[in-house]
Amino acid sequence: HDATDLGIFETLESEVRSYIRNFPILFTKAKDHLMWDADGNEYVDFFSGAGALNYGHNNPDLQKKLVDYILRDGIAHSLDMATDAKKEFLEAFQDIILKPRLLDYKVMFPGPTGTNAVESALKLARKVKGRDSVISFTNAYHGMTLGSLAITGNAFKRTGAGLPLTNSVAMPYANYLNEEMDTLAYMEHFLKDNGSGVDLPAAIILETVQGEGGINVASLAWIRDLEDLCRRWDIMLIVDDVQAGCGRTGTFFSFEEAGITPDIVCISKSISGYGLPMALTLIKPEHDVFGPGEHNGTFRGNNLAFVTATETLKFWQDDSLTKKIRAQEKMIEESLGKIVQACPKLKAEHRGRGFMQGLVCHANGTAKDVCREAFSRGLIMETSGPNSEVAKLFPPITISDAGLKRGLELLEQAAAAVND
Ligand code: PMP
Repeated sequence: HDATDLGIFETLESEVRSYIRNFPILFTKAKDHLMWDADGNEYVDFFSGAGALNYGHNNPDLQKKLVDYILRDGIAHSLDMATDAKKEFLEAFQDIILKPRLLDYKVMFPGPTGTNAVESALKLARKVKGRDSVISFTNAYHGMTLGSLAITGNAFKRTGAGLPLTNSVAMPYANYLNEEMDTLAYMEHFLKDNGSGVDLPAAIILETVQGEGGINVASLAWIRDLEDLCRRWDIMLIVDDVQAGCGRTGTFFSFEEAGITPDIVCISKSISGYGLPMALTLIKPEHDVFGPGEHNGTFRGNNLAFVTATETLKFWQDDSLTKKIRAQEKMIEESLGKIVQACPKLKAEHRGRGFMQGLVCHANGTAKDVCREAFSRGLIMETSGPNSEVAKLFPPITISDAGLKRGLELLEQAAAAVND
């Protein structure tokens, strides 16, 4: 084994490969918040598969269910046929997640991944309202396929499409210009003045916390006001909870604390909890207007993902995980506060909600330097934000105090090294 010999990937894999460049190591094993490379070196994982591993790597409860299911020749693939694994998931999701929150949604399986949930939401909103445009926000990230990319507020990412994308309008996000601007009043101004070129949209799509956009946090009051605006203007509200959902902000849905009821909710990443591809589109019953065959896809029946997804819901039977996240969130904020004070050269601040936290480094390039130093010390972290100016902290939400403390110490050392 040589954990750094990656020549084969350079020869055989497309130039589009990306994370391999930031983490140039051959990984072989992972458990909970830890990963190991081919030489046996250990890494603390504060990246969590870009938010797809909220319950850690190879969570033992999920692993056992999955292995048992495979060994009893449970169905692995079934398009959208009825299977016992799918039935158990739908029932558990209804009983554990939707009913206690007084939420009434039909569950749709739009395809394997987050962008499939977003595409289905865009199609559905256009069909329900008979309008073609959708408002998204500055620095939003909704995926890489043409529809979701069209509403992604990142010029670099959009270059992948080669040509301009249409039918989307970007409005300033909640904390745009450090909350000095009344962004909703600004948006309403455009809606009133339809001579300005902003037609009444079918929907507004929101991330309650922008992950890829740089851990931008919308206040709960702003989220409620946005819902109110949508109701007054007869615009559908789509919450893209692909990254912020499944417990990342401390509650199962990221919009729960705001007390809103979106018309459509997009879920993916950590819904299977095991890194198995799975996505959900939650639809208010009155908007359930796709007929059979209007949104097909081969991989809408990943039963292995249903099995592990059902098992993850047990974490949400009471509020113990939420309480744990709230307590540990303070540990993260304390550590980031220390870094901000101790490392003036980074020109840093911190922001976040729950386990979606970021060290924002205003000194050019320093967030990337912090992540590089962290990796050399055995801590895996990624940057986000339009200029990669945010070092993103995404530990598993099930992490132990000891694991979290160790990762935070490595981060503090990495930041200090960049500051020196
Ligand atoms: N929406 C949000 C908010 C995301 O963060 C992402 C992925 N980073 C997506 C959609 C797209 O998901 P996927 O990469 O699984 O297509």
